[in-house]
Amino acid sequence: MQLDSTPSRPSSLPLRFGTPLAENAIRVMMLGSGELGKEVVIALQRLGVEVIAVDRYPDAPGHQVAHRAHTVDMTDPDALLAVIELEKPHFVVPEIEAIATDALAVVEARGETVVIPTARATQLTMNREGIRRLAAEELGLPTSPYAFANSLDEVRAATELTGFPCVIKPVMSSSGKGQSTVRTADELESAWDYAMAGGRVNHGRVIVEGFVDFDYEITQLTVRAVGSGGEVETSFCEPIGHLQQSGDYVESWQPQQMSALALAAAREVSEKVTSALGGRGIFGVELFVKGDNVYFSEVSPRPHDTGLVTLRTQRLSEFELHARAILGLPVDTTLTSPGASAVIYGGVEAQAIGFDGVAEALAVPETDIRLFGKPESFTRRRMGVAVSTAADVETARSRAREAASKVRPVG
Ligand code: AMP
Repeated sequence: MQLDSTPSRPSSLPLRFGTPLAENAIRVMMLGSGELGKEVVIALQRLGVEVIAVDRYPDAPGHQVAHRAHTVDMTDPDALLAVIELEKPHFVVPEIEAIATDALAVVEARGETVVIPTARATQLTMNREGIRRLAAEELGLPTSPYAFANSLDEVRAATELTGFPCVIKPVMSSSGKGQSTVRTADELESAWDYAMAGGRVNHGRVIVEGFVDFDYEITQLTVRAVGSGGEVETSFCEPIGHLQQSGDYVESWQPQQMSALALAAAREVSEKVTSALGGRGIFGVELFVKGDNVYFSEVSPRPHDTGLVTLRTQRLSEFELHARAILGLPVDTTLTSPGASAVIYGGVEAQAIGFDGVAEALAVPETDIRLFGKPESFTRRRMGVAVSTAADVETARSRAREAASKVRPVG
């Protein structure tokens, strides 16, 4: 693969910005073009970057706003390498976990394309085992007690370490798929069967985690971007609180009130894990908080769904922060208003659905909605989001919930 050697080569920062669709364009390829990728595409477009959106199905949200769109099975390394060789992007930006990350390592090793944040970070975080072992065993970060298991017998043995209740999750899964909380030994078999059915690949392996009886959980958005001294520096957004149902976020708000000790611990844990992953970009560090204690749960090396709230709460949303960090630009994590987001679900199983009630939703004070434009709706598919601001988080939460409830999907 031969990339041009214009000053926009990613190895030399600061970049010279070019003109999209011309020889001197900076080209960024999104791998995964869902609602989060779509917002990153828009942020990059605003900076005059040429964007190529890739997803596994046609007309994905990000496809609709990019310069070019490709439909590719990104778990197929040959197909992934082929589209990267065709487009010759300067930056490749994964938005999802289900990617042939070994192919990203090949691309990175060629030295002509920067993988965001790094190929190794995408490899470690696509699998619950890689990131858990890094966080707990190498970095010594506090986590729930855990063990990995390849069979029902090994799951039973693991519960001697974790006790009950415990949480059983396929090592390769996201959004709560195949995940269950188990209260007694009698429930282990059905939890194992459920995990086997819900895992992505690597079917036979689960993590058994001790249940953390947390007071609340947060996403600590953490940005690694080039600072004024020319080195990568870490900055933090205000903590985002969120509510999960069946492993999927339904509401988020910012800022989550925290004790000074818990906030300091959250930032220390986030700094350690994101420095270990390296590279530039935004990371969503998921943490459980009990009193002043913070437990590391997971990290995504990309914008986080709960961070949709930042579309209205921060001077630069998490998507704009990601775009800036990718391109080697300065960042600013200032919160401009407390706010909240509430998810709009499909509610129906149909193609090309309609939405009634949009005007009523937007009549709620200080409220915006995003409809993602997904071509197919499922009952529990996230099709949009309401984002509201207010003088306090409680008011913002009730505004976002009200607005989301006014949008009525019709099949
Ligand atoms: P995950 O897919 O690991 O992000 O888990 C989804 C959600 O399940 C989390 O956001 C928590 O609300 C809950 N959860 C996961 N693991 C645990 C745990 N060890 N203890 C308590 N709740 C958990």
